[in-house]
Amino acid sequence: MTLEVMRYCPAAPNGAQKISYELEDAHQTLLEALITIKTSLDATLSFCSDCRSGVCGSCAMRVNGVEVLACTYQVCDGDTIEPLRHMEVIRDLIVDSESALTFNKKAHAYGSVSIKTPKVTPEEEKKNEFQSACILCASCYSACPVYDVNSNFLGPFALTRNWRYVSDVRETEVEDKIATVQRNGIWDCTLCNECVPVCPVGIAPKQDIVMLRSKSGVMGYMDPSFSTNIGGNFGNDGTPDFGGPAF
Ligand code: SF4
Ligand code: SF4
Repeated sequence: MTLEVMRYCPAAPNGAQKISYELEDAHQTLLEALITIKTSLDATLSFCSDCRSGVCGSCAMRVNGVEVLACTYQVCDGDTIEPLRHMEVIRDLIVDSESALTFNKKAHAYGSVSIKTPKVTPEEEKKNEFQSACILCASCYSACPVYDVNSNFLGPFALTRNWRYVSDVRETEVEDKIATVQRNGIWDCTLCNECVPVCPVGIAPKQDIVMLRSKSGVMGYMDPSFSTNIGGNFGNDGTPDFGGPAF
């Protein structure tokens, strides 16, 4: 079985060079194959892994252009392995995911310091449970085509986590969180769905973005491209006016 791995190579035009490795065992996960290469064929191959059971998200990479967790993907003859996109490659299959994680802070994708204390039903608890399962593997971030044109886009997992708190009946800063995702956020998503099938825990960021759009509409915001099309709603600084309530 042959595996093609895009190796770090600063001298190459695109910063990477494809290297082929021959393996005997075809029945193994990608992580097992990479460990075999590193321990038996080429000790310089670099990649990240930790839990080896699909929980930590640290071994996310791309196979034939699709994001996977190496510890859960079964390798096939001829597979091409590459690092995640939209992040700086540190070496081989290791990327600097810190740049992606900053979007959680920018999207205010965290709980408020003070919370309301209503009686929370099991159904209401379940509503937020799903988004809380995000393992921050950044597969959705890598798959999102918006980053090809806008590096400031808040992105799928930060918006999903924003919705997790916006939809929590105990949250006290919903207005702030909704206001934060109007620019480089929910209206910049093309609803292409690329982020959904790559999520290893089954989260659907696109659907959460649609929910955030709906909530924004109820709160008085609107798609700025629509406001531009009907004659231009611009603020004093010339940027689109997103509407919204006067807080
Ligand atoms: S649906 Fe939106 S967030 Fe998801 S990949 Fe497409 S543009 Fe990005
Ligand atoms: S939403 Fe899914 S794909 Fe995106 S970072 Fe979280 S676990 Fe990974």
